[in-house]
Amino acid sequence: MRGGLTPEDQRFALQGVGPEELAARVPELSPGEARRVVSSIYRRGPASVDGHIPHVRAIALDTLRERAHAPILELVDRQTSAVDGFAKYLFQTSEGASIEAVRIPLERPDRFTVCVSSQVGCALACAFCATGRLGLGRNLAAWEIVEQVRQVRLSLPEGARVHGVVFQGMGEPLANLDRVLAAIRVLTSPSALAINARAITVSTAGLPAGIRRLAAEAPSVRLALSIASARRSQRRRLMPIDGAHPLSEVIDAAVEHVRTTRLAPMFAVTLLRGVNDGEEDAVALAELILDVEARSGVRPRLSIIPYNEIEGAGGAGQEPFSRSPRSVEDAFRDVLSARGVYSHRRYSGGGDISAACGQLAARRA
Ligand code: SF4
Repeated sequence: MRGGLTPEDQRFALQGVGPEELAARVPELSPGEARRVVSSIYRRGPASVDGHIPHVRAIALDTLRERAHAPILELVDRQTSAVDGFAKYLFQTSEGASIEAVRIPLERPDRFTVCVSSQVGCALACAFCATGRLGLGRNLAAWEIVEQVRQVRLSLPEGARVHGVVFQGMGEPLANLDRVLAAIRVLTSPSALAINARAITVSTAGLPAGIRRLAAEAPSVRLALSIASARRSQRRRLMPIDGAHPLSEVIDAAVEHVRTTRLAPMFAVTLLRGVNDGEEDAVALAELILDVEARSGVRPRLSIIPYNEIEGAGGAGQEPFSRSPRSVEDAFRDVLSARGVYSHRRYSGGGDISAACGQLAARRA
């Protein structure tokens, strides 16, 4: 039952389904038995399906094992920050690709958020991102997404628990939305990881159709949007996806998301020295946020992210990107607050463990 899917292994992975889907796929299991099988994976571990599961008939378990298995994503490295409780997990897929997850401590010392990857690499090639330089390998399966959370949970200190999940690791989650939605169903299932949907955030570089589908199919899940810059020329330079889906179209979809879900979206801007940290950038950003509020009735929250430097990022023939100095960042935030837009400075933790998205995997690649 262990190990990744092989071409000969046509069985489906149990971590990719919740109890309802399991009962539908293996009708020999009663709904109660399906719940007990799922629950056993997250309470006693994937190997528990190899043995006896209390109150599940042996004959139904035999049928289950013919059609399904419980593979384990191989953990190859784990680095824990000596300064702030962040931890980075490097996993290897069955074909040897690297993916990352990050454990993020919350204010309450026994609560953590897990940042997960949704793809091997990423096709969107944002200029400031280490993952974008890898190109797209493949979409992760739902079970590979769920496994990242299950394994991070296993390594938490006693009594601690996973409060939330952010899809902000490697990959563009809305480009792998079928599997991301399947993973969310398992993450939120009371028999599996029982995470509150409102503590789950899907972060996108801006795919309008995906934003609309997320609102329709997972209306309790939060949306985060990477803005980079509200100025068209700057954004296009930093995020090539803006050529196919300009920010105005993405914002229309985000406004619809708010109208459907009534949840404030999180807008994120990674500040790069001399690139998107000027007064003009701050004014454009404030106007964008106030416009979304005027159209949707909900003000987006704004997260300013100090840049974690990545070797060689900055584009051919251009100065490498660097972090905006604190004084420039403060002036940027002052321009916003003078217009009534308040921002939160995201603590960019784990600086001592390469916690910027994709850095560890890029180094291995
Ligand atoms: S920032 Fe996100 S969408 Fe952009 S290249 Fe990196 S992983 Fe892909």
